[in-house]
Amino acid sequence: MCQEPSLWERVVAFHGHECLGLAIGMRVSEAALQALGSRRAPDEELFAIVENDSCAVDAIQFVTGCTLGKGNLFFRDYGRQVYSFGRRDNGQAVRVRLKPLGEDKEYSRLRERVQAGVASRDERERFADLGKAQQERFFGLALADVCQVEKIELTFPGKARIFASVACARCGERVMEPRARVRDGQIVCIPCSDEYQRRW
Ligand SMILES: [Zn+2]
Ligand SMILES: [Zn+2]
Repeated sequence: MCQEPSLWERVVAFHGHECLGLAIGMRVSEAALQALGSRRAPDEELFAIVENDSCAVDAIQFVTGCTLGKGNLFFRDYGRQVYSFGRRDNGQAVRVRLKPLGEDKEYSRLRERVQAGVASRDERERFADLGKAQQERFFGLALADVCQVEKIELTFPGKARIFASVACARCGERVMEPRARVRDGQIVCIPCSDEYQRRW
């Protein structure tokens, strides 16, 4: 009998590789769903505001059902390990912060060498082993030791809308109305509008 793949295995299959960032997203999602007493959102029941675009966000999309395509994932480019989630049915919201993980000195040193492309084969293997061990340790921690969760008041973002499209007068691509620009009295898309601006 073959076993159903675990949630983690499905998250890894979606993302493409195993990594600590993905594990972080997994635990953040767990903490958020638990605090809100919610399950994965098939539609827009939940929304998430993520403050970075790291590997963690892929796990959050997969586990919570807050996705870019459905319009219930909002990206704020603040570079912080902070994630807010809200439930549209009862107005509850939480902010989840990652607690400091504590840097492993050997791992940090090896990461620098791997990223610089100067690590030996042994160093690369050691780096992978340490990463795996770190990930296992991370999954073994209690949720309360990984994340700080607080209830917050949040202004709920509007639900996703479908807008009418117009054709760009320069490239012919269809563009949704709120993103269209006017140049020389013609309706154009943003890339065509930027080209126009650069001429001046
Ligand atoms: Zn990753
Ligand atoms: Zn265009």
